Amino acid sequence: MKNEHGHYFEESIEALASRLIQFEATSAERVNQSADYCCDWLRSHGLGVDVYVNQGLKSVVATVGEGESTLILNGHLDVVPGQPELFAPRTADGRLYGRGSYDMLGAVASMMVLMAELVKNPPDCKVILALVPDEETGGELGSGFLVRQGILGDLVICGEPTNFKIGVHAKGILQLKVDVKGKAAHGSRPWLGKNAILKAMEHYQSIVSMDVFQESTTYFKQPSINLAKIQAGKVYNQVPDFCSMGIDIRYLPGQNPDEIMDQIRALLPDAEIKVEFQGRPVETKSDDRFVRKLCEVATQLAGDQVILFGQDGSADTRFYAAKGVPAVEFGPVGANHHGPDEYVDIHSLYVYKDILKELTKNSKTKGE
Ligand SMILES: [Zn+2]
Repeated sequence: MKNEHGHYFEESIEALASRLIQFEATSAERVNQSADYCCDWLRSHGLGVDVYVNQGLKSVVATVGEGESTLILNGHLDVVPGQPELFAPRTADGRLYGRGSYDMLGAVASMMVLMAELVKNPPDCKVILALVPDEETGGELGSGFLVRQGILGDLVICGEPTNFKIGVHAKGILQLKVDVKGKAAHGSRPWLGKNAILKAMEHYQSIVSMDVFQESTTYFKQPSINLAKIQAGKVYNQVPDFCSMGIDIRYLPGQNPDEIMDQIRALLPDAEIKVEFQGRPVETKSDDRFVRKLCEVATQLAGDQVILFGQDGSADTRFYAAKGVPAVEFGPVGANHHGPDEYVDIHSLYVYKDILKELTKNSKTKGE
């Protein structure tokens, strides 16, 4: 039986996405198996493919077409862990259920099928498909590496789950370890000591109250601060003399992480503060001509649900943004990514492919 798009299941986008889900790509070994499969699939459909191996992880880069502009389609093959049944994909009510269906193997399958179609119907620009292995764990070894190899373009679309909204901005990341010292005393006489946990709580509150964390932008109401870890205290009858906090700050595009750190250090002169991880924000211009074209084409094919927005979380877009390449998150319709009932709407996978295809046509990619 053919689906509504005229495909038999075996050759459909949903079949390819189902196959990718089955790899259970939660480890280096399995994500590499998925990468090998994609590489073979793309080559068997006539595409030129390069495989990059970085610290044991494979990234697959396929290219088709030529022209003055380059469109990069970026998809991650890795998924977050889940119950075993999530890796046995199933379709029901026009949806494909399974871990990674929405984030983002459905989008990857749409991109792969599009690349195969572009071999037969060449695009008016160069299209690069970059399938990467480690977005869920930071992206340094996949997209970070490919960007450092100079694989750049005029627009990058990361197929993250966005329900056809276009994520032009994303918050930056500052993850801090804040160590606070106190003074130990017997727990029955706390007034003789200095409780490091209480002092750490005061420090946390003063960080949260900083002016910089009350600011907003067009796309964001404010930055966010999550007190993610706390390590302190050993026994009941002792005033704790040490407390270590792990604080995850997501700052706004336009804010300066160095200035934020200077302010925090000035506010807490007696604490020891270490930046454990940081990631750049994304601030793609909404009037960039390629972004405008994407918006136009997507609205034509997907309707009013297409709007520009700011993403709270971080994605591989940030590696491209750091090089000045306009990068957006844009993906099909679904729900519950990273959760138990993750699914992607199958029809939206076809609409998604058609939007990307339209974008590779001259009249759409060159601006007016
Ligand atoms: Zn994702």
